[in-house]
Amino acid sequence: MANDARRILLVEDEKAIRDAVAAYLEREGYWVTGVGDGQAALEEFNKRKFDLIVLDLMLPKLSGERVCRAIRDESDVPIIMLTAKGEVEDKIIGLELGADDYLIKPFSPRELVARVKALLRRSHIDSEPQREVLDFGELVIDVSGHKILVNDEEVDLTASEFKLLTTLARYPGRVYTRMELVEKVLGYDFEGYERTIDSHVKNLRAKLGDDPKNPKWLYTVHGVGYRFEAPEKKPAEKSE
Ligand code: CA
Repeated sequence: MANDARRILLVEDEKAIRDAVAAYLEREGYWVTGVGDGQAALEEFNKRKFDLIVLDLMLPKLSGERVCRAIRDESDVPIIMLTAKGEVEDKIIGLELGADDYLIKPFSPRELVARVKALLRRSHIDSEPQREVLDFGELVIDVSGHKILVNDEEVDLTASEFKLLTTLARYPGRVYTRMELVEKVLGYDFEGYERTIDSHVKNLRAKLGDDPKNPKWLYTVHGVGYRFEAPEKKPAEKSE
C-alpha cells in the first residue's frame, strides 16, 4: 500500500452506503474515516487534515449544507456532495455551497471512486502539499517533515518505525492487527513478517521512552495487535 495514501472523510448516515463506499475507497488504497452525522463530520474535520470529503446532504444533527459551509469557511479541500434524487435542487445547492462535484443517489460506488480520483488528481496539481502534524503534547509527529519530537527533543526513527508510529497515531484508539501493520508499514503481506512488527514496536517504545507495562501511547492488544492512544492534551502545560 502506498505510504502517501490520500485521506478521505466520508459523511453518510446510511450505514449500508457508508460501509459499501468505504470498502471501495479502501480497496483503492485511500484512508477512509467514516462518520454518520454532521456534527461528527466537523469534529473529524477539525482534528486532522483530509484530502477530500464525501458529504451527504441530508444528515442528522447538522445538515450537509451547514457542514459544507463551515468547511468552506476554512478550507479548499475538495468536496463531493451526495444527494438523493428529488432533494431540493441538488445540483444548484451542491455547487452553490462550494462543493466541487456531486452525485445523485443511488450511485454506484465505482462511479464515486472515479469522481474521487479525478478530483484528487485535479487538486493535487492545484495545491501545495499540505503540512501534516499530529500533536499529542509530549509527543509531536511531524508527518510531512518526517520528524518526531518527545518533550521537544528530536528522536531518530528508522523509516519503518516512523511509518508504524504514524499509521497507529493517525487513528488513536483504533486497533491494528499485526497483519494490517505489516501491509501498511512494510508493504508486503505474508505471515512470516508479523513478528517483525513486534520488534519494530519494541524499538519504537525504547526510543520514545514508552513503557509497555505502563504505556503512554503504544498499547499491546493481546492476541490481536497494537493501538495508539492519545493522552489527554494539556495545552496549558505546553511550553514553546
Ligand atoms: Ca442522508
